[in-house]
Amino acid sequence: MEVCNHCGLCMDVCQAQAIKRLANGTVVIDKNLCVGCQACVGFCPRGVMRKAREIIMPFKCISCGSCVRACPNGALELVEVEVEDVREVVYHKQGED
Ligand code: SF4
Ligand code: SF4
Repeated sequence: MEVCNHCGLCMDVCQAQAIKRLANGTVVIDKNLCVGCQACVGFCPRGVMRKAREIIMPFKCISCGSCVRACPNGALELVEVEVEDVREVVYHKQGED
């Protein structure tokens, strides 16, 4: 199962500039700016920007850590990385494909 790796690529396709990166590296959607165009939903290369039928704004992982706490096998970990490092990993992997 794919999850958001906070690469930030979707920030470039949002014409409303509603997708932002927090100081801790997490990519989030500003609900006050989002116009619900869904461009980011179709764009995300990992397919992890989701849309619920009843809500105009898409949603995705915001690094809240709930899954880390809930996993009975301790298989998940929340780590902080440098923003530039995340983009390097993403571009490197895309180049390999
Ligand atoms: S939703 Fe997709 S494009 Fe946006 S930061 Fe997460 S993985 Fe990257
Ligand atoms: S749905 Fe919202 S966050 Fe996504 S591209 Fe459109 S305005 Fe930006």
